[in-house]
Order: sequence, then structure tokens, then C-alpha cells
Amino acid sequence: MIDIYSMRAKLCNNDIQATNIKIRQSKKLTRSSKMCFYPQVLQPMYRTRIIIFLVLAATVLSWSGMNRINAAVLDETIRVAIVKSASKVTVDGDGLLVTNETGEALVLSFPAIVKPVKEGLLVEGKLYRVLTFSASSAVYVNNKPYRGLAELSVADKGILVVNQLPLEEYLVGLINCEISSAWPIEAVKAQAVIARTYALNRKMARINSPYHLESSVIDQVYEGCLIEDSRSRRAVIETEGEVLTFGGSIIQAFYHSSCGGRTEASENVWGASLPYLKGVDCQYCLTSQTATTWEYKIQLKEIEERLVSYGHKVSGLYDIKPGAINSRGRLKQVALLTSKGASTVSGEQFRKAVGYGVIKSTRFTLKNSKNEITFSGSGNGHGVGLCQWGAKQRALDGFGCGEILSYYYPGTELKKLSDIR
Ligand SMILES: [Zn+2]
Repeated sequence: MIDIYSMRAKLCNNDIQATNIKIRQSKKLTRSSKMCFYPQVLQPMYRTRIIIFLVLAATVLSWSGMNRINAAVLDETIRVAIVKSASKVTVDGDGLLVTNETGEALVLSFPAIVKPVKEGLLVEGKLYRVLTFSASSAVYVNNKPYRGLAELSVADKGILVVNQLPLEEYLVGLINCEISSAWPIEAVKAQAVIARTYALNRKMARINSPYHLESSVIDQVYEGCLIEDSRSRRAVIETEGEVLTFGGSIIQAFYHSSCGGRTEASENVWGASLPYLKGVDCQYCLTSQTATTWEYKIQLKEIEERLVSYGHKVSGLYDIKPGAINSRGRLKQVALLTSKGASTVSGEQFRKAVGYGVIKSTRFTLKNSKNEITFSGSGNGHGVGLCQWGAKQRALDGFGCGEILSYYYPGTELKKLSDIR
């Protein structure tokens, strides 16, 4: 594991060094060309040299531009909770700059081991309220590399670590956590746009909170810069600053792994009806059977325990029956038959209590055999918004990023962030 992390850190460093060299080359060339561009007074031989020189300069400039994210777009930052309630956090990295809550620079030896105490953070025998670590390449938090800075503070049950970084860099790291960047590039670009849109929507909603996003399926899965690659960077650069809007506002760009035939309406999951989240037909994900269909066996006793631990009053569970199905083909309710009578629980609540990894979607049937329940279903996730496996198939069918997005979010418009602010 450590070897992989070290290799990745070197790659991160090499990327930055290469970019710096390109920038330096571009600056040199621009400065030189301003000094000597008077072709009407030069000999033909010098003119030819200048033309060759300018062609090379233009090539270098466009090449470096393609591989860099626009500086103005980098101004938009995002704060992601990467560690919560920790009893110990290890921070490491090359050339780390450390500051305390007043911005005063500190000298620490690395790896730094930080522990929570009642009064704050304890490191090398001293107390701090907030510690901020930053580096030109990456900050390693519990052996995982992150771009930007890592801010440590004490929350209710331990240490909270927030990674603050440019939004576009966050997206480059995120893509391979959510899908594979080896998918058709138009599907990868669609993922970049919806992840950017989702993140900005959450940022606006949680602007006064310590962080904007969780780093798990609760929001968007994010593991730092460990699994960045050139295709994830390309998808982010080619959609730089693009967001999905409805009526001029950034939408709530929910998405999921696969829908199993029809995407879900937002009101069926969260109660709130949104005009661009009414649900659409999607046969596209069905071409990936292994990603769409699932089966899981679990004992009734285990289901009862999970329901109880989640707060449902269930005792003597002896059978489960699927209840009514909604207009999008998903279970509205599940009937629980117990020794004390029957009760119902919503499909979503049932899935949440038994486990998202067990009941992958509310589109399922079930069979009871000697108190063992076999769930058979299709679709993975809540089903609202873009279907990732469907988007992949649509890209394979030749649809572009914009067409994929307008299909799953009808009535929305793709806009540059700079045009709506
Ligand atoms: Zn689908």
C-alpha cells in the first residue's frame, strides 16, 4: 500500500513539475517574441527563424493550456469531510507547511500524530484548536494523499479533518471513485458535470457549515488524488466550469449507479417534487446485466435485528411481503408479518435499515424459504437523476455529454458557472 502511495505522490510531483516547466517555457517564449517581432525590417533568414519560433511558441502555449485548469476556475474551492470522529490522525508529506488557528507557522516533525483531548488537538505535547497542513504536491492524511490543504479540528466525538481544495481538482480525484475513467469519454464528461453541479449545490446549501460535502455515498465518494489519471483530468478540463441549471439556478444533480429500466421520481424517495427529476425510461443500463441485477440471501432473524437497531419496533418477524408498487416500478411499501401482527415500512426505509449493500434498490421481489429470504432485484441506488451505467451505454451509442445530461434531467440547461454568477 505504502509503495503505491509513494509512487502516486511521485506522479503528482512530476505532474506539477512538468506543468511548471511548461509555464516557464510559455513565459520565456512570450517575452522573447514581444522583443523581436518586427518582420518588415529583418532579413529573410531571420524572418524564417522567427516564423518557426512563433509556430513552436504557439504549439507550446496551446499544449500547456490544454493540460492546465483555468486559473479563474480554480478560485472556486470546496470543503470535504475526509475523516470524522477519529481518535488519532497521522499527517505526513514532503515540505509541509503547518499553521495553527491564528495562522502562526509551526515546526513539527513528520509523520505528525494528532490526538483529540477535551481542550483541543494534542501534538508533540502541545495543544491547538485548529491545525492546517498544506504542501505543493499532496498532504497525506492517514496515508492517503490529498491536494489542497487538510484542516484538523475537534468535533463532538473526535478529530474532524476537512480537505479544502479547488473544486476542479476535487473532481479529477472523484471521477474514478464514482465510475471508471476508462468508460467512453462523453460519459466521463457527464460524470464531471453532475459531480460539479452536485458539489456546488451542496456548497450553497451548507455555506455556513464546517464542510460542504461528505466523502462517502451520502454525498459523493472521494478518496483524494490517489486514483487521478489523465482521462479523469481530461473530462474535467473539457467541461471546465460547466454546470446543469434549471430556470437559471444550479440543480440538485442526484445520480445513481443503475436504475434497472426506469429512473425514479424525486418525490418517491425524498418527498420533494422537482420538475427535472420526474423520472425517465432507461433501457440502456439493462445491457450491463452484472451491474444492474442482483440477488441477496439473508436470514429473517438478521433482518429483524437490523430493523430494530434502526429504531423499528419489530418482534417475532416470521415473513415479509412486497407491498404496493409506485408508478416508476419500485416498491412503495414492505409488509412485516410478526407474531404481534402486521405492519408496513416504506421501501426506502426498509432498504436503509437492512442495508444499502443488501437491498441495492427498491425494485425487487423476494422469496421466503425456511426463514431465509432471497431478494432478487434490478438497479443499484436510489434511482433518481442520471443512471451511470445508462450514461455509459448512451455514450457507446454515440450520444454526447450534453445529450446524455438533457435526457436524464429534462428541461435543464448546461451553462458555464461564470455566465450565471
Ligand atoms: Zn438506467
